[in-house]
Amino acid sequence: MSKEKESCPAKELKDKLFYSKKNIYHIIDDSEVKKIYDFSEDYKIFLDKSKTEREAVKFAVKAAEEKGFVEYKQGMELKPGTKIFRNNRGKALILAVIGSEPIENGVRINAAHVDSPRLDLKQCPLYEDSELALFKTHYYGGIKKYQWTSVPLALHGVVVLLDGTQVEVCIGEETTDPVFVISDLLPHLASEQMKKNGSSIVTGEELNIIIGSRPFKSDKESELVKLNILSILFEKYGITEEDFLSAELEAVPAFRASDVGFDRSLIGSYGHDDRVCAYPALRAILDTTRIPDKTTVTVLTDKEETGSDGNTGLNSSYLRYFIDDIANEYGKRGTTVLSNSECLSADVNAAFDPTFPSVMEKKNAAYLNYGVVVTKYTGSRGKSGTSDASAEFVGRIRTMLNKNNVVWQTGELGKVDGGGGGTVAAYIANLNVDVIDVGVPVLSMHAPYEIVAKTDVYMAYRAFRAFIED
Ligand code: MN
Ligand code: MN
Repeated sequence: MSKEKESCPAKELKDKLFYSKKNIYHIIDDSEVKKIYDFSEDYKIFLDKSKTEREAVKFAVKAAEEKGFVEYKQGMELKPGTKIFRNNRGKALILAVIGSEPIENGVRINAAHVDSPRLDLKQCPLYEDSELALFKTHYYGGIKKYQWTSVPLALHGVVVLLDGTQVEVCIGEETTDPVFVISDLLPHLASEQMKKNGSSIVTGEELNIIIGSRPFKSDKESELVKLNILSILFEKYGITEEDFLSAELEAVPAFRASDVGFDRSLIGSYGHDDRVCAYPALRAILDTTRIPDKTTVTVLTDKEETGSDGNTGLNSSYLRYFIDDIANEYGKRGTTVLSNSECLSADVNAAFDPTFPSVMEKKNAAYLNYGVVVTKYTGSRGKSGTSDASAEFVGRIRTMLNKNNVVWQTGELGKVDGGGGGTVAAYIANLNVDVIDVGVPVLSMHAPYEIVAKTDVYMAYRAFRAFIED
């Protein structure tokens, strides 16, 4: 016979009063683990097929069309359940499902970005030096430049020819493809380099990509390696050196998404930021089968990593114009709709890294496998540049997530005055929308190879879906 359990008033009171977080694996059962791992397989396919904003938009449009979404045209009939999209220049996308409630009640927006840090080719990129051919680059987004040397790179993008024809480039992804690489100094000769501080160990002008070394067969002309490269490019793509002037070519890490760890609980990949929110947000709107109460809007935007400026970034008016157009179909004002709207700004946060604990404040850091991160405010130097969600809106999201059994945690991007950052939340808040950042914690953010936990990716999906269906 077992001894009767003694009651402990302090424990009971603690259970009642303390806020505690748990690792997801201690909460869920095996059938849910399987769902989580299965979802990750789909996500990895997306990662490998969508390394640039253009490719992500293309992937999303195709997936949406398969689910019955059609391109929105002004004046088209909209009724509850109508699924539409607007493709903004092939680099940003808005998807919407018309809800059963009147449009003036507001819409629910999940907004993620599909651009990631990378190396863009300069307008005149190609040159030969010491019988090697190279591309000059200008990095895009916040990177630690030294991380991008000695990493196999693939080249993605478009070249627009004089007659307007668009040539698509994607090389370095197939196992039979060549890759490209930026060289770094051997340690034997790097004593001066290693004395420099981290931001200048490798400078922006040293991020030159090696693309060839074999000269064109001739004993007369100079720059024969460059000539040989151009001859290959002309044969393969029909482009000349001048065509680089009107091109957007992006060098991205050539490696594929992989499981990380003996237990396969993590995913390593280029560009989790922010495809790790974009994919769950996309899946959430595509997988929702019932007609939502509020009209649902999913935004996959561009240019977040360079500050959201430009006509495909959320500091432009493209989201507002879309909402205006929909409101007009019902004879309502876009401003009324926006003022009653809510948004989950779907972006990543930094995960606590046991190797670098000093930059974090442990009580407010996000942890891998503790669920989707709700970030009330971002910014830096005293919350500068943040939209800071209100207690009321955090309360509303907290209730929504708990009700739908979404495992979630709070997060703050590092210690106070430790640095900082921002998301698209501030730009959407400027439209008088209630916004909060909700996303996935990431290790090695902005590195060529970033790490996330499968459980957190799935909880992001559950959160975005709950927001649509709740
Ligand atoms: Mn991001
Ligand atoms: Mn980022």
